[in-house]
Amino acid sequence: MFDEQLHQLEAQHLLRQLRLIESPTGSAVIIDGRPVVLMASNDYLGLATHPTLKRAAISATEQFGVGAGASRLVSGTLPPHRELETALAAFKGTEAALVFSSGYLANIGLLPSLIGSGGLVLADRLCHASLIDGCRLSGADFHRYHHRDLDHLASLLSKQASRRKTLIVTDGVFSMDGDLAPMLDLLDLADRYEAQVLVDDAHGTGVMGPEGRGTLEHFGVESRLPFHMGTLSKALGTSGAYVAGPDTLIRYLVNRARSFIYTTAPPPATAAAARAAIAVLRAEPERRARLWHNREHFCAGLRALGFTTTDTQSPIIPVLIGDPQKAMTMAERLLQQGVYAPAIRPPTVPKETSRIRTTVTADHTVEQLDHVLAAFKTVGLELGLL
Ligand SMILES: *Cc1c(COP(=O)(O)O)cnc(C)c1O
Repeated sequence: MFDEQLHQLEAQHLLRQLRLIESPTGSAVIIDGRPVVLMASNDYLGLATHPTLKRAAISATEQFGVGAGASRLVSGTLPPHRELETALAAFKGTEAALVFSSGYLANIGLLPSLIGSGGLVLADRLCHASLIDGCRLSGADFHRYHHRDLDHLASLLSKQASRRKTLIVTDGVFSMDGDLAPMLDLLDLADRYEAQVLVDDAHGTGVMGPEGRGTLEHFGVESRLPFHMGTLSKALGTSGAYVAGPDTLIRYLVNRARSFIYTTAPPPATAAAARAAIAVLRAEPERRARLWHNREHFCAGLRALGFTTTDTQSPIIPVLIGDPQKAMTMAERLLQQGVYAPAIRPPTVPKETSRIRTTVTADHTVEQLDHVLAAFKTVGLELGLL
C-alpha cells in the first residue's frame, strides 16, 4: 500500500528523498563525495559553525551534560535555558521570552493558547505549515486570505460579527517566496477591527532590520505588537524557537502550551549556543552587511540573466519554473554543475509555482556566487528557460 502511494508520487514528480550532506553546513559542502556550492541553507549568517557558538555548546555540555533530563516544568529548566530567555527578552525589548524546542512546536502550542473555538483565525495563504497546523489545532474558525492581499483580508474581517475574538496570522518573511508581510497596513487593518496579530519571524530574526531584530524592526512597528514568535534555527544557527512578549503571556504559555509542557527541555548545549548567537549578532554586524551585499549581487545577477524571481525582499531568492518535472530536472542539472539549489514543489508551494529556491548567506564569496550564476545560465539555456 505504501509502495503504491510512493509510485504515485513518483509518477507526478512529487516524490521527495533525503539528500545526505557529507560535511558541516556552510557555503560549500560535500554531496556524493563532490564539493558543491550550497544555495539552500537558512544559516544566513554562518553561525551554525561559528567558533563562539561551538565553544558555548561544548562548555554547557561539560557543565550540564547532553540532555536536560525532563520537561521544562518538571526538572528540565537549567541555567542555559534561563539565560537564553533573559537574553532573548533583552534582544527583543520585551518583558519576557519563552523558548520552545522548535518553531514547529512553538506554533502548534502558541496558536491554541491564543485562541479557541468561537474565535476566528485569518491566515495568509502562504503561511508556514506549522502555523496552519496550529490554526487547525486551535479549534477556531479558520480561513486563509490571498497572499499579502489586505483587500481580501478586510473583506473577511468585515463579514464577521463584531466583538468576536479575531487573530490575524502571518509570516514576517515568507519562507518560500522571500517577500514580506505588508506590516504597516496590516496592523492598521487589525486595529480597525480590534484583531490581534501573530507574526512568525523565523526568517526575519537576525536578518531584517538595522540591528537584526527582525521584520518588525525593519518596518519600525516593534512597539505596536505586544508579542511575536521567531526561531533560533535559521539566522541564529542553532535550533529551537521563542515567543517574546509580556510576562503575563509567557507565564500563561508555561501553563497552557501543550508543546512546551509535554516535551523534554532542549539540550543545554543548544540553549547556550543560541544565547551566544545573540551576542555574536551584536558583536559582528559585518556578517549582516556581507549577507545583504551577497544578496544584492546574486539577485541582480539572476535578473540580468532573465530569470523570473518572486517579489523577494530577503536573502530567500526563488527562481520560478512552474512545472514540477522541469524544476526537478533543473535542480539535477545544477547539482551536476556543482550547485545545490533544490526544487520546491507542491504541496510546499501552490500548483504551477514549482521553483528553485535559493538562499544566500554571509559566508558565500562573490566567486562562489558567480559560479552559481554561470551554472544557472548554462542550465537555463539548456532547458529553454532563457
Ligand atoms: C522554519 C520555519 C518554522 C519552523 O521552525 P523550526 O525551528 O525549523 O521547527 C516555522 N515558521 C516558519 C515561517 C519557518 O520558516
